[in-house]
Amino acid sequence: MSDVAVIGLGRMGNALAKALLTSRKSVTIWNRSQGKAGALERIGALKADTPAAAVASSSTLVVCLSDYAATSIVLDEAHSTGFLEGKTLVQLTSGTPKQARHLEKWVESRGGSYLDGAISAWPDQIGGPEASIVIAGRESVLTPIAPILQLLAPNLSHVGTDIGRAKILFNAALSYFAAHWIGFSHGAAMYAAEGMDVAEFGEAIAALSPMFADDVRHMGRAIEANRFADPQSTIRSVGVDISRLVQIAHDLNISSAFPDFAADLFRNAAEAGYGAEEHCAIFKVIRTR
Ligand code: NAP
Repeated sequence: MSDVAVIGLGRMGNALAKALLTSRKSVTIWNRSQGKAGALERIGALKADTPAAAVASSSTLVVCLSDYAATSIVLDEAHSTGFLEGKTLVQLTSGTPKQARHLEKWVESRGGSYLDGAISAWPDQIGGPEASIVIAGRESVLTPIAPILQLLAPNLSHVGTDIGRAKILFNAALSYFAAHWIGFSHGAAMYAAEGMDVAEFGEAIAALSPMFADDVRHMGRAIEANRFADPQSTIRSVGVDISRLVQIAHDLNISSAFPDFAADLFRNAAEAGYGAEEHCAIFKVIRTR
């Protein structure tokens, strides 16, 4: 029996298996297409020929596939009576809270234990100090395998027994990053349209990053306490600034898709009566469909 079976050897699964092997764990690996196991086999991994063989090889199964649909296909292929009996399946594939809750029931009804996690790291960071994994599930299931997961990510945090929680956290953070990527790219397009050095824009924003940490902490507290009445800037004033981005986009002949969307959101919030409140009060128009 191996210490761990890693199912899925894409960019992330490969990094997970490699970190475990580097930490001298015995690891069985499986991947749908051939050709991704070679480098891992050379550092000691055992290759399983089928999903069933991978599942049979260890009591700790780490799954990292492109989505939950792929996970279902692979587990259906491995399926046989009692095949998960006494095993812990750790799902590190990204997905929705609903998918996590569904898979937990599926695994438990087949005698297995289930943990659902989300990785916050690039593959190159796995096993290093920057890597974080959040895990949802029963503490009694997590405790025995936490040392294995800490080899993947020293920053391992347990977010409770509600199995959907890790995916909420991951996707909420993804929402934050999506705005960050789009906002940066729109600013970069403005720089490029003016013939300016976009790398310098990156440096300018990096210099502001400590301010962002304070701002997200402040917004979290303000929204949690429903306290928006003491603004440093208001929905109305930020809305005017963002509308100007639309004008600049037209002047520079670049896409106005992002400022159009953002200006609409701030306009809606002002029309809903929140114009004098602070910028993160747009939460109140976002939280209802
Ligand atoms: P990837 O490189 O695209 O690998 C996808 C994996 O899923 C491959 O092993 C692929 O097998 C397998 N797969 C897809 N469909 C399948 C199917 N129908 N049956 C069997 N296997 C199937 O993706 P990745 O970057 O490793 O990401 C894996 C997960 O980690 C995703 O949920 C992702 O969101 C999450 N994640 C990734 C990162 C990152 O930076 N890469 C960061 C955080 C979280 P084949 O090799 O045969 O195609």
